[in-house]
Amino acid sequence: MTPLAGRCALVTGASRGIGAEIAVSLAQNGAAVAVNYSGSRVKAEEVVSRIAHIGGSAFAVQASVGDAKGVQTLFAELSSRSFEPDILVNNAGITKDNLFMRLSDEDFESVIAVNLKGAIFCTKQALPNMIKRGYGKIINISSVVGYSGNAGQANYSASKGALSAFSRSCAVEFGAFGIRVNTVAPGFIETDMTAALPEDVKLGMLKSIPLGRAGSAEEVANAVLWLASPISDYITGQSIHVNGGMYLQ
Ligand code: NAP
Repeated sequence: MTPLAGRCALVTGASRGIGAEIAVSLAQNGAAVAVNYSGSRVKAEEVVSRIAHIGGSAFAVQASVGDAKGVQTLFAELSSRSFEPDILVNNAGITKDNLFMRLSDEDFESVIAVNLKGAIFCTKQALPNMIKRGYGKIINISSVVGYSGNAGQANYSASKGALSAFSRSCAVEFGAFGIRVNTVAPGFIETDMTAALPEDVKLGMLKSIPLGRAGSAEEVANAVLWLASPISDYITGQSIHVNGGMYLQ
């Protein structure tokens, strides 16, 4: 009943929202979890406490994933704890929404840095140990918007579409080493990220969802758990859409 026993999982952006539920779910299923955060130390410690409360093992670790040097330091810290992730969940993400004409260079650069480069930096650091072990699970959290596009999110959709393409290339390249790379593409999920949206935008999104409601962070975490577990070992290079039917391929 603990399919991830003996596994070490790094979840980026796990202080809040989807990442926090992923961290709890992986820990509940036996993995030791590194709870990464950028600025929300107290919230990350709360996630660690939640995990301790259910008998799991976790610790919080600060790093801004959009910074290559910061990610190197993060992995050095993990290594000093003899914590070599064989499950990597690249979840950290930000939005800086605006119509394309109004998006500044910084709005583009910061979103690409965290959402895309962050996953690339973490993958690069995690890979050598996964290769050594001949086993690994990399799960990248993309977005429905990376497939459908969305007005006001050219920067975000570019970062998420590229993340999916990156995942597929990694799946092809790493397969021979027993490393599976997949993406989970959430739709409209209730977290701080979507709470910030204007009410009319939220209502418009809800109307476009056949299942008639927003998803929960836990429902996204369920898909990640499945991909992290041995029962999905023959799955790589795929994307699971957790979106209530909002966008169909
Ligand atoms: P959220 O509630 O805003 O939480 C974002 C998380 O990312 C926080 O833990 C935050 O840490 C962390 N983070 C932000 N910048 C970071 C950085 N530079 N380095 C490390 N961590 C950083 O977002 P969410 O809704 O849970 O989204 C999680 C992922 O799902 C994102 O990749 C997002 O794009 C994707 N997604 C979400 C939705 C949705 O509807 N919510 C839909 C599709 C895809 P701090 O608290 O320390 O800042």
